[in-house]
Formats: sequence, C-alpha cells, structure tokens
Amino acid sequence: MPALAYIGLGANLGAARETVHAALRDLAAEPHIEIEKVARLYSSAPIDSSGPNYVNTVASIRTSLNPQQLLACLQKIEQWHGRERPYINAPRTLDLDLLLYDDMTLESPTLTIPHPRMHLRAFVLQPLHDIAGNIRLAQGYVETLLELCQDQSLLPMA
Ligand code: AMP
Repeated sequence: MPALAYIGLGANLGAARETVHAALRDLAAEPHIEIEKVARLYSSAPIDSSGPNYVNTVASIRTSLNPQQLLACLQKIEQWHGRERPYINAPRTLDLDLLLYDDMTLESPTLTIPHPRMHLRAFVLQPLHDIAGNIRLAQGYVETLLELCQDQSLLPMA
C-alpha cells in the first residue's frame, strides 16, 4: 500500500494563486504520486518573512516514494517555479513542505518528519483540518493546536 503523506503548499510572490495551482498539477503529474484531497486556498500574513500575503493549502497524496525521494521531488518542483534562497526566510515563489508521512518520525540533516513547525502554524493546521479532520499530532489535536494560534490572520480565499 502506498504511503499517505500530507504536503503543505505556500506562495507569496508573483501570481501566488496560479503558482499553487500549477504546483498541484506538477505533483499530480509525477509518476509515483497520486493526489487524494486538496483543501481550499487560504490567504495568510507572512510569519518570520516579508512581502505580500501568502496563498496556502494542504494536499494529501498517496505515494510509493520514500520520504527522501519525496522531498527531492518537492524541491525539484520548487525549482521549476523559480524559487531562490537569497537569505533565510526570504520571500519565496513556492514553498513545498513534507508535513506528515504515514506515522513516521524521522530526524535527518535534510529532513524532519513531522515537519517541525507545522503545529504552530494556522496556515498549515486549518487546511490540514479541512481534509484530515481533527487528527492528533505529537503536540495535541489539530483543533486544540489551532485555538492556540488564533491570533494568526487566516482568510479563506474566494
Ligand atoms: P524552507 O526554506 O523552510 O522550505 O526549508 C527548506 C529546508 O528544510 C530544506 O533544505 C530541507 O532539507 C529542510 N527540511 C527539513 N525537514 C523538512 C520537511 N519536513 N519538509 C521540507 N523541507 C524540510
């Protein structure tokens, strides 16, 4: 059975909404990835970053890629969309994060699963809740964690 993974998508430069849609199409076109569900799009103010609001969503996928292969694939798609890293937390064209991969926990120099900051971010937790329900992370249930970051502005996009 392929693994169930959750991918966080975010963009805040250029045509951000179109970039998120294009990234979803790129993911769907990968031979070892099948998209299961995609949450609605949200607009969020940048945290630890600058520039215009982000467009965010979360997708669940089925994949036969292992986590490192999946990360490499996400980074390839980021590169296609012209991501540059001039400095840490610089505004980015496209950011793809591997949030969850089955029940796996992993800490390597290049990959940490679950994503180490996902439990702090409304722009991840809300779309995750939309498609996965009130699942339990190591830090608590998604609904409880969402209440803790209610100060973060997050708006569903039309
Ligand atoms: P960022 O600039 O925040 O997208 O961070 C990218 C870096 O985080 C990459 O060099 C990855 O190797 C590393 N990384 C560690 N864990 C993850 C993860 N779960 N998803 C995406 N990138 C990760």
